[in-house]
Amino acid sequence: MKVFKAISPLREYLAARSSAGQQILFVPTMGALHTGHVSLVERAKADGGEVVLSIFVNPTQFNNPEDLEKYPRTVGEDLAAAKEAGVDCVFLPSVEEMYPCGDKATVSLKAGKMAELWCGASRPGHFDGVLTVVSALFNIVGPDKAYFGEKDWQQLQLIKRLVLEQHFPVEIVSCPTMREADGLAMSSRNVRLSADERLKALCLSRALEFVSQGIGQQLALPELLQKARVMIEAEGFEVDYLAVINDEVLPAETAAEAVRVLGAMNVGAVRLIDNMPAGFSLNVTDVNQNNM
Ligand code: AMP
Repeated sequence: MKVFKAISPLREYLAARSSAGQQILFVPTMGALHTGHVSLVERAKADGGEVVLSIFVNPTQFNNPEDLEKYPRTVGEDLAAAKEAGVDCVFLPSVEEMYPCGDKATVSLKAGKMAELWCGASRPGHFDGVLTVVSALFNIVGPDKAYFGEKDWQQLQLIKRLVLEQHFPVEIVSCPTMREADGLAMSSRNVRLSADERLKALCLSRALEFVSQGIGQQLALPELLQKARVMIEAEGFEVDYLAVINDEVLPAETAAEAVRVLGAMNVGAVRLIDNMPAGFSLNVTDVNQNNM
């Protein structure tokens, strides 16, 4: 497995792989790799080609300095996990390499309407940072395909728009959310939870499942969302948002236009997000047996 910290040799290497007829298959991450990230790599490997994984904790997408500081960084383990997963090439740039004029970059992309609500509302500037860094990474790596998780649904929709509107010649492949046995969505931030918080954090996926299964049944969407809010608050956590959205990532007015259920909550200083399609089941029977 090749590891590059600098852009020029990475570009040279990938140009040679491309010339040799390999598709460039790109999995961007912020590291602290878990099974969710590995599932993206596996999906890329199944497509056949040169699998490139980037690890870069992008400062411009953190609106909260404490979150940036506390974000888990486990490069040694990540490289071992990447190798084990069959990654061909890792790009591991420094902040200076990615932002040659400093991370208060001169040029930044601005996410539009689709970023106004949900994570965009509670994390001002977050999606501007995401789009700016993903665009820079696409320019560096020049992928034929790039793999993103549905776990970050709003981000995924914005990246599809980025590619469409900025005419990047890349196909975006969306990959389903990987979950722990009890239904909790895997996240690099889960390691920051205490054992008690980890158990209780299940309430987010449970609440979303409740809404997801209730869509089009007796209760109207606002009532479903209100009950879900109570399920989360009963565990002592603060709801950031809960929403049923349409395909424009705006609130669904009716069950018929409901595409996805989204939620975010704060567990102390740790912010967790999750989402699922309408009518989704976690397929978890006995939560107690499956808890870590
Ligand atoms: P991150 O390192 O959190 O920026 O995530 C890198 C990529 O992995 C993004 O495309 C995420 O959507 C994806 N990802 C994160 N968690 C999961 C998960 N539980 N299942 C599938 N994909 C995930």
